Amino acid sequence: MIQTTAVVVGAGHAGLAMSRRLTERSIDHVVLERGEVANSWRTQRWPSLTLLTPNWQTRLPGHDYAGDDPDGFMPVADVVATITLYASLVGAPVCTGTGAHTVRAAPAGFQIRANDDLLRARAVVLATGACNLPAIPAAACAVPASITTLSPLTYRDPGQLPDGGVLVVGASATGVQLAAEIHRSGRPVTLAVGEHVRLPRSYRGRDIFWWMQATGLLAERYDQVDDLTRARHLPSPQLTGTPQATMTDLNTLAAQGVRIVGRLGRIVDGVAQFSGSLANVCVLADLKMNRFLNRADEWATASGLDGELPPPHRFAPTRVDPRTPLELDLTSGEITTVLWATGFRPDHSWLDIPVLDRTGHIRHDGGVVTGAPGLYVLGMPVLRTRASTYIHGAGADSAALAGHLHSFLSSSTRASRSTRGLTKKDAPS
Ligand SMILES: Cc1cc2nc3c(=O)[nH]c(=O)nc-3n(C[C@H](O)[C@H](O)[C@H](O)COP(=O)(O)OP(=O)(O)OC[C@H]3O[C@@H](n4cnc5c(N)ncnc54)[C@H](O)[C@@H]3O)c2cc1C
Repeated sequence: MIQTTAVVVGAGHAGLAMSRRLTERSIDHVVLERGEVANSWRTQRWPSLTLLTPNWQTRLPGHDYAGDDPDGFMPVADVVATITLYASLVGAPVCTGTGAHTVRAAPAGFQIRANDDLLRARAVVLATGACNLPAIPAAACAVPASITTLSPLTYRDPGQLPDGGVLVVGASATGVQLAAEIHRSGRPVTLAVGEHVRLPRSYRGRDIFWWMQATGLLAERYDQVDDLTRARHLPSPQLTGTPQATMTDLNTLAAQGVRIVGRLGRIVDGVAQFSGSLANVCVLADLKMNRFLNRADEWATASGLDGELPPPHRFAPTRVDPRTPLELDLTSGEITTVLWATGFRPDHSWLDIPVLDRTGHIRHDGGVVTGAPGLYVLGMPVLRTRASTYIHGAGADSAALAGHLHSFLSSSTRASRSTRGLTKKDAPS
């Protein structure tokens, strides 16, 4: 049995940020990682992926971006290199190739089974990521067997697809990026679009993430967000990190030749049925984008920046073809691949502690897991602020949770000392 004060599970950027915070507080710990450092980026992302957040924002506690392209966007290989470098800079005690197979409550803490080892720890930080599994709708079961189906976790590049048309389901960051890439490879692409977040890549000469930071949007706290459940499940914005900083909205994709259809509802007898609400969801997405741009303009005026920035403007509304088909026969041979870009979900199935809600998500209050003192979770969307969804959000989140963990350790030490004192005093002689 290995005894340590804290165990961090997962050596992505979030687990490593936490490791640094624990080291700062002299809390002894180990980081368990089932693969290598930055395993998700090495094994679960497609090679052409670039971050949609600009380089200047890819910062971790004690480590800012220092390259010569702060406004550029990191390819996945650079993300791996950055996180790997960070692990060595902070001297994180990572045990690679060591999966946590169970975590369960034990007297005064937790027992963790990792490979063949048993560990005891007073606190555990779950930093295993929010995107371990693809979230695939039930309709997937009805896709004809002749069709190749992929998720973003199994997609590598267009070369792996059979010839023929591709139905990409989902039009958030992943869906629009992959629809554009597959279309460029010469395959006809149909993109099924449900609720989505439309944002321009840049506005008034500044990247949209600059505006999100400047206006305070990213700093909004989880306990001040109107509908937290909704915020935590919001689709990622239709953005791509390309060197040209181009837009990847539906107008752009349609102009390139991608066929846009409504949300995929059901597949009946091999026929995919799309919602007729496409025009409505696009109007809503335009409305929300303009609401944010209004907020940006108000902030710029209030900050006295109007003179320095190009004038405000608005983007063309999303064009929806009134002849958009509502059905697509998947047995006709037109479509040979369906790519489910319908989101991701975490995998906490290996936790042997009753802290999951009925959808499999951990119940927590800003990362402090509900009903399991000493258990923490990091790296979830809108964990403590809207920035938590992105890499740089781990900085403030890990600081806050390390502070909580430190107080928890101190108070549980005091409690156990006073219990021991009481026991001695009260013990019959
Ligand atoms: C397609 C995609 C694009 C994204 N683009 C951006 C972007 O542009 N900008 C941005 O800021 N964010 C982006 N994100 C979001 C976010 O940064 C990632 O989800 C990020 O990987 C989360 O970091 P993490 O450290 O919490 O989790 P991960 O990076 O997933 O790390 C978790 C680690 O835990 C390990 N692990 C899991 N289970 C166990 C176990 N039981 N035992 C031991 N180890 C385990 C995994 O192997 C992995 O190494 C993107 C996410 C995705 C999916």
